Amino acid sequence: MKALPPETVRLLCSSQVITSVLNVVKELVENSLDAGSSSLENYGLDRIEVRDNGSGIKATDVPVMAVKHYTSKISCHEDLERLETYGFRGEALASICAISEVVITTKTADDDFSLQYSVDHNGQIVSQKPSHLGEGTTVCAANLFRKLPVRRQYYSNSKKCKEELKRVQNLLMAYAVVKPELRITLSLNKAVVWQKSRVSDHRTALMAVLGAASVANMLPIQHHQEQPEIGIDGFFPKPGSDLNSTSSSSPDKTFIFVNSRPVHHKEILKLIKQYYTSAQSNKESANRRYPILMMNITIPASTVDVNLTPDKTEVMLQNKEGVLLAVETMLISLYGYSIGDDDLKAGG
Ligand code: ADP
Ligand code: MG
Repeated sequence: MKALPPETVRLLCSSQVITSVLNVVKELVENSLDAGSSSLENYGLDRIEVRDNGSGIKATDVPVMAVKHYTSKISCHEDLERLETYGFRGEALASICAISEVVITTKTADDDFSLQYSVDHNGQIVSQKPSHLGEGTTVCAANLFRKLPVRRQYYSNSKKCKEELKRVQNLLMAYAVVKPELRITLSLNKAVVWQKSRVSDHRTALMAVLGAASVANMLPIQHHQEQPEIGIDGFFPKPGSDLNSTSSSSPDKTFIFVNSRPVHHKEILKLIKQYYTSAQSNKESANRRYPILMMNITIPASTVDVNLTPDKTEVMLQNKEGVLLAVETMLISLYGYSIGDDDLKAGG
């Protein structure tokens, strides 16, 4: 038996962290949000570029910015109990470097001008030159998955590319509704695919994402309680109104967040779907679809474990029963009735 060469280990591990084009965009966008950006631009699939106007990366941090497990966001595991950022593992940039060719341009408020760094597959800076870009950071990852022929081929199929672009757009829409103040532009080959300007509240952000007609059929929801401390805010379809996600197979416009992080949580989704379906005249057809909505659950950071999957979209809730109960209390007040346990079971 022999140990694998380091570059093979790097590729194997990185390609598990960065599984798709969507993942690359998600990691880069979350870095921009963590850097306090109010503006984001995003281009292409084979060559992904995310540009922000956030804090930039300090010159002293640049040499390690793409080295695995280097992060400016936490310094020990106890910090996870007060986590306020999307990132914390110091893994994304290193992984993206391993599976693509990365160039990072950055400028902080203290720098006189921005510098553009070329980074090798080990996350080391190999060259640098001045750039005209303003304050903030631009990460460009080109030639994605070049050493992973199956994945590369997957994305060379134009149908798959279209699907992935849709997924990227839905992800950006999720950040757009949860962060109204954010300006976002998604472009493909220099053509703007979708954009949203900076707005002041969630309702206006939702209108930018879903259109005014959908939002006219939605109601604001709110539930705040102490002990356990749980806050729920968002917008739901008016009971009985038929507001379904565009895809029948996935909840792509069912925007659920925990502490502003987009998440998939089967039980929360199931509960919401039960109430949504119960108010529809055609229950059978409604049961197959997902409602369009946005809901942000705010709970103490110390009660959520977000480190379950590399993409952090699965969360483990310490007080899952309490959160489900709070969601159901909100649903009961929205719908004006409670669905008994038997109905829940019957509805599957
Ligand atoms: P993490 O986000 O878990 O810290 P990353 O590998 O995604 O790990 O990023 C490494 C570090 O590089 C971050 O901790 C941050 O200091 C810096 N960084 C990355 N992207 C940006 C950005 N867009 N703006 C400012 N700093 C950034
Ligand atoms: Mg990150």
